[in-house]
Amino acid sequence: MSDLQGDMQDLYRELILDHSRNPRHFGRLSDATHTADGINPLCGDKLKLYLRVDGQGRIESSSFEGSGCAISVASASLMTDTVTGLPVDQAEACFEKITQRLQDGDPADNSNPGLEKLRALDGVRDFPARIKCATLAWQALHSALENDTTPATTE
Ligand code: ZN
Repeated sequence: MSDLQGDMQDLYRELILDHSRNPRHFGRLSDATHTADGINPLCGDKLKLYLRVDGQGRIESSSFEGSGCAISVASASLMTDTVTGLPVDQAEACFEKITQRLQDGDPADNSNPGLEKLRALDGVRDFPARIKCATLAWQALHSALENDTTPATTE
């Protein structure tokens, strides 16, 4: 391993530690339009995700509560950070990209620079048991958006 790779891994580890210790968007969202529960029994990670989607189909705000390992909390924090402000279809596209990349690897995909900081999670690919920790929040996002209770947007 080169020093540069080592430095990048340190940087990413710091980012994950930072997000797990000081999660963004942590807490309950009282006026959520979408919610979903996520459970990862393998590790004991649990979270509840709250989304508020506006009339234009944009995720106006998001939050989560729950408990779990550092990876799951950091991933939920990064996820809510990433999707807040995005149209629902873009958030769904992120879900597909992230879960695919974590499960199968997709290092060549740089088409969405907004996802760059999520590369912090790429390290979990070396630890297959932790992949579910990292994808849990994204699975919750997907199920929250699937159980759509808001009026459909015009396409
Ligand atoms: Zn976990």
